[in-house]
Amino acid sequence: MKVEPHASVGIYVVTVEGRELLATENLAPGIAVYGERLLRIRGSEYRTWDPYRSKLAASILKGIEKIPIKPGQRVLYLGSASGTTVSHVSDILGAEGIVYCIDFAPRVMRDLLRNVCAHRPNAVPILADARMPERYEAIVGEVDGIYCDLAQPEQAKILADNADLFLKLGGWIMLAIKARAIDVVKHPSEVYAHEVAVLEDRRFRIQKLVDLAPYDKDHVMVLAER
Ligand code: SAM
Repeated sequence: MKVEPHASVGIYVVTVEGRELLATENLAPGIAVYGERLLRIRGSEYRTWDPYRSKLAASILKGIEKIPIKPGQRVLYLGSASGTTVSHVSDILGAEGIVYCIDFAPRVMRDLLRNVCAHRPNAVPILADARMPERYEAIVGEVDGIYCDLAQPEQAKILADNADLFLKLGGWIMLAIKARAIDVVKHPSEVYAHEVAVLEDRRFRIQKLVDLAPYDKDHVMVLAER
């Protein structure tokens, strides 16, 4: 086994049995979140990062080599679910960073609390509807970036509304667009174009748009800056 740093700070490439896998250094040693492998290499523990389970990992492999998430940042995560991707974001941010995890489904929030937040002081769980950001304004302050994976209509608008309240000047956003969740009739590319137009209208400059196939069908990831 060997480990090498990836182009993005806080991300690693581990070689196991001749296969190169993405990984992050485990902020909660000994604890796996979703069945990923824990690998002990030269005194540190790494968690393999599955691009079929995490759109952020898929984005890295599909062309966003340098993600904007960096150690020590404050990140607002819309649609945390049970924390598969949140856990890797938490690893990357490290003890000095913080990730605010928004989800409105009590069931996934319970798993997020038990499997992620209980072991990671930098992951703050917030049971709330992302369409009403003013409800968590008292908890979330200014953030360096917003990651959005809500899989529901009007995602770009919801993200922009959150950015108006929380995103610092020059901050980054990443938006996972699931075409089928937004409109089952329109062709995916029409849906992506509409969401991108909403972002541009709300003063975001698109930096990258990558198709996540074959890891995720009918999904793209948009990276933008305000
Ligand atoms: N990002 C997660 C990951 O990579 O592990 C997967 C997110 S899943 C595709 C979408 C999540 O968004 C669900 O858990 C759902 O409950 C949540 N969600 C959808 N609409 C929401 C809203 N308006 N407010 C808060 N959470 C929402």
